[in-house]
Amino acid sequence: MQTRLLGRTGLNVSVLSLGASPLGSVFRNIDESEGIRTVHEAIDLGINFIDVSPYYGETQAETVLGKALKGFPRDSYILATKVGRYGPDRFDFSAERVTRSVDESLERLRVDVIDVIQCHDIEFGSPNQVIEETIPALRRVREQGKARFIGITGLPLKIFREVLSRTEVDTILSYCRYSLNDASLESIIPFLKEKGVGIISASPLSMGLLTERGAPVWHPAPDALKAAARKAAEHCRERGEDLSRLALQFAVANPDIATTLVGTASLENLKKNVEWAQSPPDPELLNEVREIFRPVQNLTWPSGRPENNDEARLV
Ligand code: NAD
Repeated sequence: MQTRLLGRTGLNVSVLSLGASPLGSVFRNIDESEGIRTVHEAIDLGINFIDVSPYYGETQAETVLGKALKGFPRDSYILATKVGRYGPDRFDFSAERVTRSVDESLERLRVDVIDVIQCHDIEFGSPNQVIEETIPALRRVREQGKARFIGITGLPLKIFREVLSRTEVDTILSYCRYSLNDASLESIIPFLKEKGVGIISASPLSMGLLTERGAPVWHPAPDALKAAARKAAEHCRERGEDLSRLALQFAVANPDIATTLVGTASLENLKKNVEWAQSPPDPELLNEVREIFRPVQNLTWPSGRPENNDEARLV
């Protein structure tokens, strides 16, 4: 598995990484042993970066991940988790809550230190609070040796510009913004590189949109985007290809993105994803599929507080 440096952290992360949200039965009910097997298989296949959050399955994903990681040498994986989001509508970015949250995560994950501690979906909070209270609290946590690096996550790209113009963090985690249907993350990559920030991109399959099965019912994409994704899947099928393969290869090919997080608890999909990540996308098929997405390219949906969204193509 190829690795890339995560900004200035010195961490060498596998280009494909494991999103542990399925361990919290976020997409479908999975039993604990299935979740544990997925983590073991991912590490065996060369994946060294794992992302989780107390929010996923309301702490279940962290608990299952902690059990899975037991016995592995601590330097054989790089662990990222989050603070601030605890339910679909439960957010608390206060210094007191996030400090306690780190201790809770350390216990559930059964480790002494978290490699990357991230403020989760900050567009649901106030940028001022994140900058003036949450990040300083995480710096104190870092000084205590409980975390090594600090990051922020969210959907609207505006939040990354805002926070990074006013303070320093080590990493950003963006999702659904670097895939076949929406590559708008590209627009802020020069800014992020200038700041020396490590770029983590999640959801290369646009949260299931870019799959044969299609988007799950809860998916926030507008109908026009879902229709384009169905057309793209059909086009790939006619060419004897799989849309997910193309989507994954497109995401992993960008050298400025240190790692791409995919979520799956299926061993079969995990193996496929690792194999697919070894080669670049077929340029001809890529052009054809991007042409299908052109009318809906970069179409996105609002997330969090309206003032934290500024996307040109919001629906
Ligand atoms: P994804 O684009 O990886 O899509 C996941 C879906 O695709 C699942 O339904 C999975 O079963 C399916 N899938 C995976 N591999 C497949 C394959 N080979 N063929 C067919 N289907 C396949 O999106 P995701 O799960 O939303 O994101 C991955 C991870 O990124 C999450 O687990 C989480 O760790 C992280 N993430 C973080 C945030 C945040 O911090 N705000 C947001 C989104 C995602």
